[in-house]
Amino acid sequence: VGLMASEKEAALAAAPSDSPTIFDKIINKQIPANIVYEDEQVLAFRDIAPQAPTHILIIPKLRDGLIGISTAEERHCEILGRLLYTAKLVAKQEGLKDGFRIVINDGPNGCQSVYHLHIHLLGGRQMNWPPG
Ligand code: IMP
Repeated sequence: VGLMASEKEAALAAAPSDSPTIFDKIINKQIPANIVYEDEQVLAFRDIAPQAPTHILIIPKLRDGLIGISTAEERHCEILGRLLYTAKLVAKQEGLKDGFRIVINDGPNGCQSVYHLHIHLLGGRQMNWPPG
């Protein structure tokens, strides 16, 4: 990804797939990550290419078919709620008292580059709308 000209290029180069991703290595502690929250089901760590002063990814430890939000099924409702709730906990932990943004990119058009569901938590600056 580091050699890619942009996040968009990285996303367009990544075809949707259920192959293991870099996030498995982070979950298994095979590669280092700046972890800010962890419990049995959820892991949150700082994005390696932050787009805001606070940029954290919140992921399920067990992907269980959640390669993105578009592959969610009804059985995932509980973990999906837990991921959102964790985003709120981490936002508070990060001191984002003036607000923040939560983003889920899906598929090539959504600029998804890692096919293990993740919620982006962005904050610490004024966001713009609409997003690009
Ligand atoms: P997506 O573009 O929505 O799929 O988001 C994937 C995110 O993962 C991007 O913001 C990347 O910067 C981030 N990322 C990729 N590899 C790593 C890593 O090894 N550690 C932390 N973040 C990563």
